Amino acid sequence: MTLLVPQTGAIPRPKPSSLSQPFWDGLGLHELRFQRCGACRGATHTPALVCSRCGSDELTWEVSTGRGIVYSWTTVWRPQTPEFVVPYVPIVVDVEEGWQMLSNLVGCDHDEVAPDLAVEVVFHHLDDGVTLPYFRPIGG
Ligand SMILES: [Zn+2]
Repeated sequence: MTLLVPQTGAIPRPKPSSLSQPFWDGLGLHELRFQRCGACRGATHTPALVCSRCGSDELTWEVSTGRGIVYSWTTVWRPQTPEFVVPYVPIVVDVEEGWQMLSNLVGCDHDEVAPDLAVEVVFHHLDDGVTLPYFRPIGG
């Protein structure tokens, strides 16, 4: 068994733009933020200037429940750079508010991932002030 844990090495860091800064600021406050459209009420992620559904620019930031289900995943045994400890499991999460997010699974064995696995966000603080969102199974 190999328990999946957050990466702790010198992995690449995010480079927030003025558009994505609210998302990264939220992580530091333990808030998983996404954008909601004032015209069609759809959810948008990654951070955008206009709604991905209707093109409206009436986007405002909201805080997610941080819960969702695994839509898709892969298990990485050969990382592109040696800073990553393997295995790790990148996942696409269907978040409750109707948006998707790419993250990584932690808190279970790599072979416990399954379609529709219920997950919740966990916030991992790196020593340089960056906070990364990971997801873990709900209820162990
Ligand atoms: Zn819209």
